[in-house]
Amino acid sequence: MLQGRFVGELPELAVPWKAEAAPQPQLLVVNEPLAAELGVDADWLRGPDGLGLLTGTVVPSDATPAAQAYAGHQFGGYQPRLGDGRALLMGEFVDSTGRLRDLHLKGSGRTPFARGGDGLAAVGPMLREYVISEAMHALGIPTTRALAVVATGRPVYRDTVLPGAVLARVASSHLRVGTFQYAAAVSAREGNVDLLRRLADHAIARHHPAAAVAENRYLALLDAVSAAQAKLVAQWMLVGFVHGVMNTDNMTISGETIDYGPCAFMEAFDPATVFSSIDSSGRYAYGNQPAITLWNLARFAETLLPLIHENSGAAIALAEASLDSFAGLYETAWTDGMRAKLGVPGAPAESVTPLIEQLLPQMQQSHVDYTLFYRLLAGAARGDAEPVRGEFIDLAAFDEWLGRWRALEPDPAVMDRVNPVYIPRNHLVEDALTAATGGDLGPLQQLLTAVTAPFEERPGSERFAEPGEKEFSASFQTFCGT
Ligand code: AMP
Ligand code: MG
Repeated sequence: MLQGRFVGELPELAVPWKAEAAPQPQLLVVNEPLAAELGVDADWLRGPDGLGLLTGTVVPSDATPAAQAYAGHQFGGYQPRLGDGRALLMGEFVDSTGRLRDLHLKGSGRTPFARGGDGLAAVGPMLREYVISEAMHALGIPTTRALAVVATGRPVYRDTVLPGAVLARVASSHLRVGTFQYAAAVSAREGNVDLLRRLADHAIARHHPAAAVAENRYLALLDAVSAAQAKLVAQWMLVGFVHGVMNTDNMTISGETIDYGPCAFMEAFDPATVFSSIDSSGRYAYGNQPAITLWNLARFAETLLPLIHENSGAAIALAEASLDSFAGLYETAWTDGMRAKLGVPGAPAESVTPLIEQLLPQMQQSHVDYTLFYRLLAGAARGDAEPVRGEFIDLAAFDEWLGRWRALEPDPAVMDRVNPVYIPRNHLVEDALTAATGGDLGPLQQLLTAVTAPFEERPGSERFAEPGEKEFSASFQTFCGT
């Protein structure tokens, strides 16, 4: 059932390892559509062998679970050895479309990369990753997926004693910028680029196959990762997602969002929005995300230099030229996305760009809810402008803006297809996780129903569309190391 491509091709980056026991496994949530995509029977997953696979305690005979090695820049500081401290790669499925998909368990116990950590995860944070990653997928944003969360029956000691859990997640791979940083360091130490080249070839085969036929395949890999990440961060910005911990070990080569720790969705529009309790300088604030993506790509480019050209000066010039295209790719993805959000997909750049530039400061000034705004604006396109006007303090300025927007003949149907009604709002997520930690999964299921069909307004679900209380939102913080 599971392949061992990563472990087989890159043994230097994999430490075969076993999960810790799960004394009382209890399935909290399982993703049936995803299981079907993987060709796995959801009812089997509910049984003893399935729960064993989802906790790593029953290993299929052909599988070699392993902790993956990687390095990374954390808040700008380089850490040569991070790796999966509390996670295991079980192997790869071949999904129904023939693609390889990693099965990875988070919270499965200490590994040789655990450092001071206990290797465990609590029910709340694992369900949090489940809800937010599935919401991102439903929003059309590339992401790792959540297959299941299983409570282990083991206590986890944080500020209080919490129930432990394992998240089973699926990704097109877990290759990170930090994986390349680790391999580049090994290659530099050993004086040959064998490992680095094998890693790059593995990444090209799995994620960016067009690079394999390019004149300079490793430069083409850099181009492809840069393009995928430019599109990804534009999509985050378009929905108001704040990742929270964009360390280079939390950035994938595939272009999927990964590692949902202190992430959250912005409510009142403000580029300085930060939720993470440890991001005191705002390095990973909403508005900094495109610049940080480019910074991380520069770290990725550095690892590829010896493969790009044997002459280091020439390699640097090629890599810099590649990274120079990031800004344009990002701008295009962002502006195209905003055209759709504003319902003017065909409008020329000369009219859309100033429209965006004049809108955002007004939203910031009036603390307008970034998600609700676009649905209310669609109402204005249908003839009822009062609800959206009610969000703004400086009405004269907003009315002027509305006039120029209307002149572009916005299409509300286009808007409603791309602007979500339901996002995993912080107060809703917190309430659902608190209930789930206490044993009541009802609110979590209701929240999942709303955020996994985010564009269709459903009667009876109004409270899922509303922002939290201002006091709650203003003080909301998320925590790392969960
Ligand atoms: P993250 O902040 O989730 O990206 O994790 C950064 C690093 O810390 C990774 O190497 C993780 O595997 C490791 N880590 C996080 N939490 C734990 C834990 N409870 N036990 C062991 N390692 C951990
Ligand atoms: Mg991580």
